[in-house]
Amino acid sequence: MNGDDFREWSKRAAEWGADYRASLRDLPVRAQTEPGEIAAQLPVSPPETAEAMEAIFADFETIIMPGMTHWQHPRFFAYFPANAAPVSVIAEYLVSAMAAQCMLWQTSPAATELETRILDWLRQALGLPQGFSGVIQDSASSATLAAVLTMRERSLGWQGNEAGLSGQPALRIYCSGEVHTSIDRAIWVAGIGQANLVKIGVTGKHRAMDIAALEAAIENDISAGMKPAGIIACVGGTGVGGTDDVAAVCAVARKHDLYVHVDAAWAGSAMICPEYRELWAGIENANSVVFNPHKWLGAQFDCAAHFIREPEDLVRTLAIRPAYLQTHGKDGIINYSEWSVPLGRRFRALKLWFLIRAHGLEGLRMMIRNHVAWARKLAARLRAEPDFEITSEPMLSLFSFRYLGKGVRDVEALNQQLVKAINDDGRIYVTQTILDGVYVIRFQIGQFEVNEADIDLAFEVICEIARNL
Ligand SMILES: *Cc1c(COP(=O)(O)O)cnc(C)c1O
Repeated sequence: MNGDDFREWSKRAAEWGADYRASLRDLPVRAQTEPGEIAAQLPVSPPETAEAMEAIFADFETIIMPGMTHWQHPRFFAYFPANAAPVSVIAEYLVSAMAAQCMLWQTSPAATELETRILDWLRQALGLPQGFSGVIQDSASSATLAAVLTMRERSLGWQGNEAGLSGQPALRIYCSGEVHTSIDRAIWVAGIGQANLVKIGVTGKHRAMDIAALEAAIENDISAGMKPAGIIACVGGTGVGGTDDVAAVCAVARKHDLYVHVDAAWAGSAMICPEYRELWAGIENANSVVFNPHKWLGAQFDCAAHFIREPEDLVRTLAIRPAYLQTHGKDGIINYSEWSVPLGRRFRALKLWFLIRAHGLEGLRMMIRNHVAWARKLAARLRAEPDFEITSEPMLSLFSFRYLGKGVRDVEALNQQLVKAINDDGRIYVTQTILDGVYVIRFQIGQFEVNEADIDLAFEVICEIARNL
């Protein structure tokens, strides 16, 4: 592709993007394809000779687009959102044009220095105290893996990387049963083993770890000759928003010198609003916390903000300094690749900088407050219907419900049918979860451009489809 073509096709891509965003409300949210339908339209072998961009672009529109689920659709109420505010898309376009690799300060000084400053903006925005340093990871899963590796090394006197785990006492890590599967996987990858991830039961309306049970588990493990290494607290669990008492967890941790990592991947964005911070009261005592600005805040995927109180511990765990990676510069420069498992890293701070400046914290707070208010309103409307049941109260903008029907015996089958019918209809998109053994429908409001009329439409769609089953 020559320079003129690059210019021309970049403009066409931008036009396409603007048209796409403008048309979203008319598209079904979830892709309406059967498995294999897209693959069947793709040649099995690569072309030997160059093809024209016109043909490539046409195939993108006719083959690929019908197989996309539209995450930027205003009526995407499934999972958690992966918002890409238009301004963050523009920043990503610039980043992709430069395609810089930002592993060391010297490989992109501006990327490093902007990252340091913007993560400190975010720290202030969340109300985290000074003393937390931030780094952008590719995902919350990577941040949690880095935290678990730090727990491992810290508890083994920094010998695990060198000596391996054989011959060591079993390392024990504690969390509730509400945590995301990324916690389990971090434990596997760190070599600690699923059997040593101790899942503590939950209590209360927030589905928080039972603190007495946590203490008892730690003490039992110590008496059994095992080695407690850390606790992972959850603020806004994936299922129904389960939230631990961070202050109480940190108090237990302090008694036993354990590392505390807080997974607030989704709910963390809401902490830009001071009135929600009671949900993670005590956060200043945690060793690290992760949240995903790519979920609720609007920074295009991927972007996970990882705050660490003692970055030296993380660097001690992850830094490898072969000669060819050493930079000779002024003292105190940061090489963020030493803060994460992957070496290479994209320039992710630019989209946050654009986003925060273009919307201001007040604009982002207003969005989040609206979503929370609308979730409460929708839950109240469904509760008022005789044939619906609210199965978990709104935690921020997430709640769950189920349809009871009239005289229906198999309520689970009814709700499975309802989820399928809603998603086949396409006007809204929802997913399910299992809550205390019961199949329930999850509903979260978090899309960047959703408005109150979309929520009213969601209510109508749910009632209409349920009653026509
Ligand atoms: C989404 C989510 C994760 C995983 O985030 P990734 O960035 O996809 O790794 C982890 N924990 C919670 C609570 C989440 O909501």
